Amino acid sequence: MFLVRLIYASSVKSDFDKTVVESILEASRRNNIKANITGMLYFNNNYFLQCLEGSRSSVNETYNKILTDERHHQVTAIEYREISSREFEDWSMGYVPSRGASTAALLKFSVHKEFNPYLMSGESAHNLLCALKADLPSF
Ligand code: FAD
Repeated sequence: MFLVRLIYASSVKSDFDKTVVESILEASRRNNIKANITGMLYFNNNYFLQCLEGSRSSVNETYNKILTDERHHQVTAIEYREISSREFEDWSMGYVPSRGASTAALLKFSVHKEFNPYLMSGESAHNLLCALKADLPSF
């Protein structure tokens, strides 16, 4: 069984309660540890950008749960590929909130200063998440 990486974008609904992010992270970390999934979630109050790394079956199973989660919508895979090693091996789900990403970091990997993951290539989204991980605590 080899490793894969999935990166997807999603949007919050108009009635989204931001305090729910904590319970999403709690469930993610609990489940991901059991499934040997690692990754990172960036949330900017409008959009989620998440990377999941692990076995193909574990990543697919988790993504299927995420796809049907009513707390977000417009879930769009922007990269899915086999990888030889993980980038987020220290994080069952690292989290970077909006304030954690500088405008310069966003502009480096995007056409606009405003974060819009739907307009990013898989490679740019991956590079942004890798750049942001430098400031993450381990979990
Ligand atoms: P529980 O621990 O039983 O639920 C946790 C809390 O979330 C409870 O309050 C429950 O009522 C509520 N909840 C659970 N599912 C839903 C739902 N579909 N709609 C509304 N409320 C719900 N899961 C992972 O395992 N790994 C991840 O990396 C991951 N990342 C996510 C990223 C985002 C942006 C979102 C929105 C969800 C993510 N999830 C992730 C959650 C996933 O969609 C499932 O909700 C979760 O895997 C269910 O796990 P559980 O059965 O242990 O939930």
